[in-house]
Amino acid sequence: MSLSKIEEEVLDFWDRENIFQKSIENRKDAPAFNFYDGPPFASGNPHYGHVLTSSIKDTVLRYKTMRGYNVPRRLGWDCHGLPVENLIEKELNIKSKREIEEMGILKFNEACRNNVFNCVDEWRNTLRRIGRWADYENDYATMEDSYIESVWWVLKTLWNKGLVYRDYRVTPYCYRCGTPVSNFEVNQGYAETEDPSVFIRFNVKKGKFEGASLLAWTTTPWTLISNVALVVHPDMQYVLVEEQGRKLILLKERISVLEEPKVIEEIKGKDLEGVEYEPLFDDLSKEKPQGIENAFRVYLADFVGTEEGTGVVHTAVMYGEEDFNLGKKYNLPFRHAVDEAGKFLFGKWEGKRVKETDEEIIEDLKKRDLLEKSERMNHSYPFCWRCDTPLLYYALHTWYVKVEKIKEKLLENNRKIRWVPEHVKEGRFGKWLEGARDWAFSRNRFWGAPIPIWECSSCNELKCIGSKKELGKELEDLHRPYIDEVTFRCQNCGGEMKRVEEVFDCWFESGSMPYAQWHYPFENKEYVEKNFPADFIAEGVDQTRGWFYTLHVLATALTYEDVGLGKNKPAFLNTIVNGFIFDDKGKKLSKKLKNYPDMTDVFEKYGADSLRFFLLSSTPVGEDYRFSEERVKEVYTGIISTFYHSFSFFQTYSKGKIEKKEAQSTLNRWIVARLRETGRKVVEEMEGYNLTKASRELAAFAEDLSNWYIRRSRDLIKKGDKESLSVFREVLVSFSKILAPFAPFLSEHVYKEITGETSVHLEDFPLFKEKKEDQDILKKMEKGREIASMGLKERADLQIKVRQPLSSLKVSLSAFQEIKDEKEIMNLIKDEVNVKEVLFEKLSGEKIKLDAEITPELKEEGQAREITRVIQNLRKKGGLTLEDKINLYYKGKNIEEVLSKWKDLLREETNIVAMQEGTKEGLLATKEIKIEGESFFLGIERTEK
Ligand SMILES: [Zn+2]
Ligand SMILES: [Zn+2]
Repeated sequence: MSLSKIEEEVLDFWDRENIFQKSIENRKDAPAFNFYDGPPFASGNPHYGHVLTSSIKDTVLRYKTMRGYNVPRRLGWDCHGLPVENLIEKELNIKSKREIEEMGILKFNEACRNNVFNCVDEWRNTLRRIGRWADYENDYATMEDSYIESVWWVLKTLWNKGLVYRDYRVTPYCYRCGTPVSNFEVNQGYAETEDPSVFIRFNVKKGKFEGASLLAWTTTPWTLISNVALVVHPDMQYVLVEEQGRKLILLKERISVLEEPKVIEEIKGKDLEGVEYEPLFDDLSKEKPQGIENAFRVYLADFVGTEEGTGVVHTAVMYGEEDFNLGKKYNLPFRHAVDEAGKFLFGKWEGKRVKETDEEIIEDLKKRDLLEKSERMNHSYPFCWRCDTPLLYYALHTWYVKVEKIKEKLLENNRKIRWVPEHVKEGRFGKWLEGARDWAFSRNRFWGAPIPIWECSSCNELKCIGSKKELGKELEDLHRPYIDEVTFRCQNCGGEMKRVEEVFDCWFESGSMPYAQWHYPFENKEYVEKNFPADFIAEGVDQTRGWFYTLHVLATALTYEDVGLGKNKPAFLNTIVNGFIFDDKGKKLSKKLKNYPDMTDVFEKYGADSLRFFLLSSTPVGEDYRFSEERVKEVYTGIISTFYHSFSFFQTYSKGKIEKKEAQSTLNRWIVARLRETGRKVVEEMEGYNLTKASRELAAFAEDLSNWYIRRSRDLIKKGDKESLSVFREVLVSFSKILAPFAPFLSEHVYKEITGETSVHLEDFPLFKEKKEDQDILKKMEKGREIASMGLKERADLQIKVRQPLSSLKVSLSAFQEIKDEKEIMNLIKDEVNVKEVLFEKLSGEKIKLDAEITPELKEEGQAREITRVIQNLRKKGGLTLEDKINLYYKGKNIEEVLSKWKDLLREETNIVAMQEGTKEGLLATKEIKIEGESFFLGIERTEK
């Protein structure tokens, strides 16, 4: 039977018998093991990365269940934000925020709502197929009113603690999405790009340097419209040079940007302070913004660098962070020349997109003889992580969480978390926390939880509400546009308070899931407080700047003072961070490249257990994966089908009830000791969340079971040896329990088939104490196997088939003293290496020595064994069962002698009743063979029953 067929049957069985629900129900009074599921977007299809995190989560949670915990698992869906909005924009062919406003927020949000669960069936099917157990019925969704109300509560709590503020500052901003992008999102979007690199002359208006030009540089020509100042470093050396009849001022160190400059005079930077220049454009002056009288002159600042440009820094206060701060210091005019859609508000290019005007601006400056030179350059620049539009640095009113203020608490709480791999704690995550900036959590968008802050239109008083009750009105739902219609009377001045326009960053919402999924504190108060924080979460490494981070910030901010959730708590105590999945050549998996196998095909060919086990065992946790069908296949032919074949072998030879017997023989005691050792190691690794090491222990055991235990006890088991069958059964049953969290399907099948019990997943995980005898036998068997494998290697080197018996294997007494008297181990070696004797001797230099002489007697025995093998193949070819008896027909020189001498062996191994020289018509199966250059004929028929 194919493994995928078995898996489908197991899935049906789990569904039919509610095994997952039973596994929870069984433990309902047990201590809880708390898990938070990071909500994915159900608007896109699941991919291998999701299967990876799901495999990790499911394995840990099944393990904890078997260890006696109550492990509820609630799925959740991220519903809001740009992923869905972008999808709808594409579908409705909408290109800007303005077009959404024109069609109406109601209509747009309805379209978003209807598409949120586009792929939810796909998700459920994939998760079910890989055996991810979860409560699929009671999932939560971030767009539900109850969820939103809890998010409001989170904000209000932070608001009351003084951790929320609004600021006007320069933020990375996507004009296509019409929204700021937080600094952790910016980090996801850097890419190499080509931009203009222009050198512009600002002509000095009067004074000492009249007639000269200040030479400045920029890669964003569109910001030149908004130039209000030039900045030089006070302590650096500048020069006045002559270049092709023009007088230019620039930093001495940057003189190489010119072709043949002739230095006229050296100038200290601070001596340039206050020098006035002609603005490049008069558009801004015409707007008469406040502070314009301070504009168009040289200021001093020490952020001026010597790495690039000219040392004379073009300053546009609305479009650069340092520029903005300088503007505040010197009261420069703050006036946007560009709207939130990235289009010019006034002047020659009014209504045009900024980046698209760069060339026209350069052309214009050239015509007016203000351009020194224009080039192109490659540099790293941030793009929107959702839509790939180059981000602008743009001055904007944005709401912030005071992350910097609680930084010490963030670092302190991080110390309470176990990270796997460990280096993430102080590395990627810890460093990120150390450099943490205040978090811009508002988005100037539509489909999101609305920010519950109202502002008085006359006196700018602010009011934050934290519940529906405070809202005081029943709404159709809490989304825009309904919420926008709610107004309050200002307590301060009696004016009208209107809601600020923004919605929450969807990361704020997913970071609120520990509370919001349970509608805390409005419902489930006791439950949430008892079960906070999570014992365990798991996600990809990109989430150190995403979900891990927002969970951590919000939990730390909420528990800064005790609001019922305890004081100074992280949101989670243990976390596994997985790497990314690349193809065999290290390329990202992409639909376009088709560089990965279809998931359904993988399930069909190798089963979900193989995929899971590949993801758990192939790559150390945290590192990036090399993924291909070939690699999954290796796991399939490795542990998965090895274990399946071990089980099948047992099923073939175990008949009826097996009486329980203690392990007595060395081989039986050894496999029991190996099982106990494996169980202990798996527990040890799983307690440290080291899934890779745990799964590798399992693979090693399956290999030992098949390639040593079963191979060496094959004959005993075939003969129905009671002790061996009993031990074999026990081992299979216990191993299927240990394997269950990792390969939940095959272990279920094996367990049920052998025991007839309900489900392996309802069992307790076996715990084995360490025993001295175990260590002793494990060590000795290891030595024995070392001898055997050296013996086999020597045979291979001498090119003698294993079937050919040899007289002796000599073993170094000094190297293997401790197992000299272990008769049973010696017998195993004899059988494995196919020698008559194992002799301990003083050997010089080598650990073993094979006696390679083949006497006529040994040769004959070799022939007999070869014949046995051929007859066994003929039986197989003829489709005979173990019980079927046969008659043998033979022809060939000297064969009769061999057959009669070895007839007992042949009878026993191949179930022969009679042997007869010659052949006859209608034999079941026949074969001509050559042994040592001589030809023989063999044929079989089934005896009459
Ligand atoms: Zn964008
Ligand atoms: Zn007011």
